[in-house]
Amino acid sequence: MLNNYWCVSSLFIHDAIIVTQNSAREVLRGNILVRDGKIESVGKEHMDADSTVEAGGKIAIPGLINTHCHVAMTHLRGKLDDISLEKFLERTFKLDSERSNAGIYNSSLLGMYEMLDSGITSFVDLYYSEEVIAKAVRESGIRGFLSWVTLDEDKTTQKGSPLKNAERFISNFRNDELVIPSVGIQGVYAAGDEVYLGAKELAEKKDTIIHGHLAETREEVYNFLNQHNGVRPTEHLEKIGFLNPRFLAAHGVWNTLHEVRLMGKNGVKLSWNPVSNAKLGIGGMAPVPEYLANGVSVSIGSDSCGSNNTQDVFQGMKFGSIWVKSDRWNPAITNAQAILDMATVNAAASLNRPDLGSLEPGKSADIVLLDTRTPRLMLTDEITAVSNIVYSADASCVSDVIVNGRLIKSDGHLAKFNSKDFQDAEFV
Ligand SMILES: [Zn+2]
Repeated sequence: MLNNYWCVSSLFIHDAIIVTQNSAREVLRGNILVRDGKIESVGKEHMDADSTVEAGGKIAIPGLINTHCHVAMTHLRGKLDDISLEKFLERTFKLDSERSNAGIYNSSLLGMYEMLDSGITSFVDLYYSEEVIAKAVRESGIRGFLSWVTLDEDKTTQKGSPLKNAERFISNFRNDELVIPSVGIQGVYAAGDEVYLGAKELAEKKDTIIHGHLAETREEVYNFLNQHNGVRPTEHLEKIGFLNPRFLAAHGVWNTLHEVRLMGKNGVKLSWNPVSNAKLGIGGMAPVPEYLANGVSVSIGSDSCGSNNTQDVFQGMKFGSIWVKSDRWNPAITNAQAILDMATVNAAASLNRPDLGSLEPGKSADIVLLDTRTPRLMLTDEITAVSNIVYSADASCVSDVIVNGRLIKSDGHLAKFNSKDFQDAEFV
């Protein structure tokens, strides 16, 4: 049964500080009209609509985009902390192979509610059983970019060929309103050249992105070097002709400058996962300034609740930003605008979705309001808005969330979420 919130065809947001993220990066005080899932106008005019949100000086931002997670692993929150990376991976693989469909669905739905509650309107997922996760996407009302993971057949618990499973999933969910299916790839430690090239071919045939892990840990890179006569993973992927603009790589921590350049040259995009990388003690920071200098689009991912414990992009923005400054002994090496770009326009470009990531007429209506009546955001104006979003705001500041024109969170209340639905639910 759809809630009232979901049924309005037009919505007027009155009197907000609008962080447009348009090409001039304008921040203005005004109104937004949403009609039939699209932004119709951004400006000063007063318009009639089915419903009005009195923003009263709240900050309006484009919905945040989380470009790497495994949402079905939300139930692992707090269960894999403070152990070695080796033990973490061992336990994760074991837990992943023992899942039921009900567990995957409930865990995913809970993770999606957490994301919506935290101002995330789109996320990129990497997992198997994506058709189950897709059902949770429809139920929650979030936008899900779901990448069915492929890997070598002898390394998976998936029934049948992962590439065929991915193809079936993409065919079944084409033209869905909120589910955007694509091809996933686990990483060089689990997928050989045949799978990589098969994934690329499938993405071209179905016109989707390819999303997968790349150079996350030093161990995976060293193992690869030993098995490939000193050739590094990203160099190898370039040699076999895999690197291409459809590829959204997660992590990219242990790439050399040469590999960073290969990524830029081939139009590969990067999902940076600073909180997960640091919490797992990966031992280094992705060379973000070098990626940006070489034309790689950088966005922000949370990774799973096993290694991050939240799916909060606000934490990713602040922690990532201050980590780069500290790592390079230079507070000016990045700035709040560049970091907000990562969570909005860069992420949209990485997904080949220019209709997302900014608040402009004609774009899809994915809009988040941050409450300036909270102590931590009080006194925010058009000048300080971007800095305050990146360095001061947290998920508790998110008061209203609109996805595709539907008001999913209103004045602090997440319309469809009921904690009782999860109390006795199966999560494994
Ligand atoms: Zn991951």
